[in-house]
Amino acid sequence: MAERFIPLSVPNLKGNELWYVSRAVESEWVSTAGPYVTDFEKSVAEYVGTKGAVACQSGTAGLHVALQLCGVTSGDLVIVPALTFIASVNPVRYIGAEPVFMDCDDSLCIDTEKLETFCREECEFRNDGLHHTASGRRVRAVVIVHVFGNMADMESLSNLARKYNLKVIEDAAEALGTKYTDGVFSGRFAGTIGDIGVYSFNGNKIITSGGGGMIVSDNEEYLKHAKHLTTQAKSDKLNFLHDEVGYNYRLTNLQAALGLAQMEQLEEFISVKQHNYELYRNAIKDIPGLFLLSFRTGTRSNHWFYSLYCDERYPMKRDGIIKNLSDNGIQSRPVWGLIHKQIPYINSLAYRIERAELFRENVVNIPCGTNLSENDIAYVVECLRAAK
Ligand SMILES: *Cc1c(COP(=O)(O)O)cnc(C)c1O
Repeated sequence: MAERFIPLSVPNLKGNELWYVSRAVESEWVSTAGPYVTDFEKSVAEYVGTKGAVACQSGTAGLHVALQLCGVTSGDLVIVPALTFIASVNPVRYIGAEPVFMDCDDSLCIDTEKLETFCREECEFRNDGLHHTASGRRVRAVVIVHVFGNMADMESLSNLARKYNLKVIEDAAEALGTKYTDGVFSGRFAGTIGDIGVYSFNGNKIITSGGGGMIVSDNEEYLKHAKHLTTQAKSDKLNFLHDEVGYNYRLTNLQAALGLAQMEQLEEFISVKQHNYELYRNAIKDIPGLFLLSFRTGTRSNHWFYSLYCDERYPMKRDGIIKNLSDNGIQSRPVWGLIHKQIPYINSLAYRIERAELFRENVVNIPCGTNLSENDIAYVVECLRAAK
């Protein structure tokens, strides 16, 4: 029998990647100076429609800088989801602030109703803003995550942020290309609705630069400061004078060359992901106890990751499904271990986390790469259907 292996998600590099990267090498501009970096920034800013974009080494680095731009300082509280990749949360600690973990709603993104209850019942306004009553700490910002490419409820969130004077940082690492098609934010992309948005170009994301990230905003002060902080905060280039503590977070020209070539294919990748999602969904819908989670209505999601939900009618639970698929050469995985239960965060505040537990227990992410063939999808579904 032929060995078959279907990965969860791998890069698709069939466009101008080799050409652009070769040009970067030929030009000998391989480091952080070089035209691809600014071209890549322009291409992302133009695509999502922000006043600008600042490329950085990773999504994590971008979030670290974004928190600082929003004025988060040591001792502050920052609201974060429990159901996310840990990189949404770690930067809060990098600057000595503390996370408050929030539950998710059915979109897998932050539950804005619980968030409102938290702000109303557990916090109070003092002259300089919202404070957590029990600890007295200032609640400065929310990191909202567009989980698996699904748009968080930005309408409710924006209202809340205004009401409670919170800065909104959008961790749109997984959601480049996701946008509203209806409602007050119609036409607006994930990452461009809050104060600052951050994308990631890690190898498993919808487009990759090998590794990298991008900070976007309509606030020109933020953009300028982001560029400054990501390039060692040098105020005098000749004399190497620095006016604050900066970081070596600039993206390299080599990575940007790859990223730019990927940007050219983003819309195509999204169509493929959408199409494959529909194929899966139609094929799975008559298997009792299994279904694919959907994406928010009124949005055009990038359909980055597919979430298979299993209930008690299906003969296997999450780990059984993963093992069955793995035995058949198919890679899949559970959603992340909830962050408030992980070692660095077990003592942090967690507010009524319930739904996130349910998704953690019952969701499996199945292969979603843009290289998947219809045959691959049929095979995955066949393995799911055959389970006893
Ligand atoms: C990938 C990812 C990040 C981090 O991005 P890197 O570029 O890998 O640092 C942050 N948040 C979420 C939700 C992610 O999926």
